Parts: sequence; structure tokens; C-alpha cells
Amino acid sequence: MSFRAYAAPAAGKELEPIQLERPSELGPFDVEILVECCGICHSDIHLIDNDWRISSYPLIPGHEVVGKIVRKGALVQNVKEGDRVGVGWQCASCLACEWCERGEEPACDHHVATCVGRPGGYAEYLLADSRFAFPIPEALPSESAAPLLCGGITVFTPLSRFASPSDRVGVIGIGGLGHLALQFARAMGCEVTAFSTSPSKEAEAKRLGAHHFVVSTDEKAMKALANSFDLILSTVTADLNWPMWLSLVRKHGRLQLVGASPGNISVPVMQLVGGQKTISGTIIGGRAGIRKMLAFAARHGVRAQAEVLPLDRVNEAVARVRANQARYRMVLKVQ
Ligand code: NAP
Ligand code: ZN
Repeated sequence: MSFRAYAAPAAGKELEPIQLERPSELGPFDVEILVECCGICHSDIHLIDNDWRISSYPLIPGHEVVGKIVRKGALVQNVKEGDRVGVGWQCASCLACEWCERGEEPACDHHVATCVGRPGGYAEYLLADSRFAFPIPEALPSESAAPLLCGGITVFTPLSRFASPSDRVGVIGIGGLGHLALQFARAMGCEVTAFSTSPSKEAEAKRLGAHHFVVSTDEKAMKALANSFDLILSTVTADLNWPMWLSLVRKHGRLQLVGASPGNISVPVMQLVGGQKTISGTIIGGRAGIRKMLAFAARHGVRAQAEVLPLDRVNEAVARVRANQARYRMVLKVQ
């Protein structure tokens, strides 16, 4: 039986409808998911554009999926038909290596990404390894849960690892990831500052959890914040003035990158040594982290603010992300 999906036919092109065949048999640990909705992460845009030189076409993006399990392989134990589950960026790993044993599955050499070299979630059905399909807590509506599966875990990982309650945390870029970071950091007890190039986001950033809002192009306001932050989290897609951002970090503080800025970082060594500062990066989070993050979101009211459009309006939704107009995550409604 065939089903509908949307694919980019070549780098940078608009998506077109295509038909795919459902497999007649599933692998022993696989589940087939009837997709209810799928968030549009900026990584999907990087993939459509082949920014990372790993894309192959036709490319069906989508890695923030929530849906219902309709079939499962013979050895699947953790979920059953009818369960509402979410799948994020990673949909399989070896589950046997050192990294997998440590709960750091994203570092596994056999990491499989949900929509790289295989069809992603801008589609009616998705296949995934059941061990990477996470039950969604009842308190979370599907549209506001889907973006947690990639955007949510990507900011929850460094915040839960590096931010202590009462720490001063800055979030650069109030987009899909950033608006979730504000909510998580606030719920963790931090003093939260939103840094944005979009002054129009101030009221919503504060409603989402920011104590302070700073327009990052305001040089005077930025200078006044030198040596202020325990943790600054960059979620932006662009290259920034990294030495300037590092100057806002206080001693023993950290500039943490999760946004896929394309360029290099060059900072004076003595800014790190003398200031005893750290620059680091992370990708998504492991399976245990995703479960914790979903439970935390359910308990503390962390919800993606979703702008929902039907699957067949995917190009409009992608265009809104490209133009930085999404408030704050475009989510495709599939069923
Ligand atoms: P998004 O929704 O498009 O948000 C990015 C935000 O960055 C924008 O809303 C904007 O915020 C800011 N921004 C955009 N262009 C900028 C520029 N030229 N200068 C300064 N700020 C700019 O994207 P997203 O889905 O949150 O993803 C953000 C990045 O994280 C992407 O590169 C994505 O690939 C990456 N990512 C990484 C991981 C990981 O595992 N590490 C996981 C998911 C995504 P303001 O309007 O507030 O300035
Ligand atoms: Zn993503």
C-alpha cells in the first residue's frame, strides 16, 4: 500500500508530493508510525539545502514526529500498537558500544538520523527503531510535543548538564530551539535572558520565561552585560562575533553552541585561559535524556508554541522558517 510524503527533488528546491510504498515486513525491532504531526526544525532546512553535504535526493525531511504505532516487529517490547510516540533526529544506533551504554547514543558510530538517507516525517507513515520511539506523556498535546523531540532535547541536554538553579543563563536566538530553552531554563530556576535580533519578540520571550530581553544588535546594552552569565546558549544558524559573546560569560562560565553556525570560532586563547571559560557544543541527547526531558516538560508546563499547517502547505511552512517568521515552531498536521 502506498502513502503520501513530501520531498525536495534537489538542493534548495520546493518540496513536491511523492508516493512511497509501505514495507510488507518490518525488521524485528522496527515500528511503523502513522504520523499525526511533524515539526519543522531548521536542520530540515539545512538538509533541503545540502548545507552539510550529507543530503541525497529526493529528500523527505522531518525529524520531530508524533504519531501512533500501527505495526511492530516481532521483538518489539517497549511499545505496542496504538501507543502515541515521538521520534526525533536519531532513529537508531548500535546499542552496544561504549557511547550507547553510557546513554550517549548520539555519539554512536552507527547513529542513524531519521531523515538522512531515509524518508523522514513529512509523510503519512514513518519507520523507526522502537528503541528510539518515546511514549508521549498524556499532558502534552501532539503539536506542542513534536518539537520537543529534537528542539527540546537539544536545549535540555546542555541546560540540565551545565545550568544550576539561580545561574544566569542567556539564550541567543529565540526561534524553535530558543523559545524552548527559555521555558526549560526558567523552570530549572535560572535567571534567564533572551538575546534576539528581533525586537518584536520581547513580549512573547518574557511570557515564555525570560526575565530580561536584550536586542543583541544594541552595542551599548551588550557592553553593559560583560562578565555576567554563567551559561550562554547559542541556538542560531549564523556565524556570530564569538569573542564578543564570550566576553559576556563570567569566570568559570560557558559558551555552549547547539546552533549549526557554518563557520569557525576564533577567540583569543587568553580570554579562555585568564577567564577560565569554556566553549563547547552538543547534539540532541540520549534516550534516557529524552525520557527525562518529556517528563520534565509535562510536569513544568514546557510546551512548544506551534503554528500548525496541513502537510500539503509544507512549502509555505518552510518559507516561514526561512524568513524567521515562525512563532515559534512550524508544525505540519498530517492526520
Ligand atoms: P530557527 O527556528 O530558524 O531559529 C533560529 C533563530 O536564530 C532565529 O529565530 C533568530 O532568532 C536567530 N537568527 C537567525 N539568523 C540570525 C542571524 N543572521 N544572526 C543572529 N541570529 C539569527 O532554527 P531552530 O530550529 O531553532 O534551529 C537553530 C539551529 O540549531 C539550526 O542551525 C539547527 O540546524 C540547529 N540544531 C542543532 C541541533 C543539535 O543537535 N545541536 C538540533 C536541532 C537544531 P532571533 O529572531 O531571536 O534573533
Ligand atoms: Zn532538529
